[in-house]
Amino acid sequence: MAVPLVSKAEPVLNELGKGKTTERMPVIFIGHGNPMHALHDNTFTKTLNGIQKTITKPKAILVVSAHWLTRGTYVSTTLNPKTIYDFGGFPDELYQVKYEPLGAPELAKEVKEKITSPKIEADNAMGLDHGAWTVLKHMYPAADIPTFQLSVDYYKPASYHFELAKQLTFLRNKGVLIIGSGNLVHNLGMVDFKNTNGGYDWAIEFDAKVKELLDKGDFKALVEYEKLGKSALLSIPTNDHYLPMIYPLGLKTEKENISYLYEGMEAGSISMRSFIIK
Ligand code: ZN
Repeated sequence: MAVPLVSKAEPVLNELGKGKTTERMPVIFIGHGNPMHALHDNTFTKTLNGIQKTITKPKAILVVSAHWLTRGTYVSTTLNPKTIYDFGGFPDELYQVKYEPLGAPELAKEVKEKITSPKIEADNAMGLDHGAWTVLKHMYPAADIPTFQLSVDYYKPASYHFELAKQLTFLRNKGVLIIGSGNLVHNLGMVDFKNTNGGYDWAIEFDAKVKELLDKGDFKALVEYEKLGKSALLSIPTNDHYLPMIYPLGLKTEKENISYLYEGMEAGSISMRSFIIK
């Protein structure tokens, strides 16, 4: 369940190294679960809403979401990203939700220019996918923070994402909040909607395993998740929702700590475990 947040991010020298300090923004992973949370008012959404009270207001937000999968890596340079309804079969009410902050094209262009290997492509038409807006609607309901996205190259191994994440570090020192949005256990084929807040044994086992490895700082094991046995294979039948968790791990510095914002299972096979690094 929700864990109170106490420590403040440490001040660091800004990029120019001129002695002026800026606050390094934390990094967050959110297990986003069912898109219907966008409309809900429950312990999960209240937790999301509480985050803004515990961290500095970001100058911009970069989301790495499970719902923007591409071949190659893209950054969205859209000035006015539109809400994307990238799902089917939900009530009309969900399609009425609009979450439309400004984009952050200048920062996006900087990402593209600064990171040369791998080559990052610009996408000037991308909106905000539901991995971004269903979460941000609760975190920053006023939609007053410029927001952009980085795609997940679905054809690359987790190690690629871990290394790429490290190169995004400069954004933290510019006041950008980086959020990975996925689910570390995500098996839609085995979803059991009657089991609202319960989990299969293998799902609970793998969620606990991930927590143990996060606590130990054994990110190598989390990057090489295929070696973690049967519970990993059942929890990550496809890695689209797992890979966004790799980004916060690549961005963690040695002195920082991981604390859990939320934990629990949804519909048997989805872990809602969410954490903050600062
Ligand atoms: Zn999702």
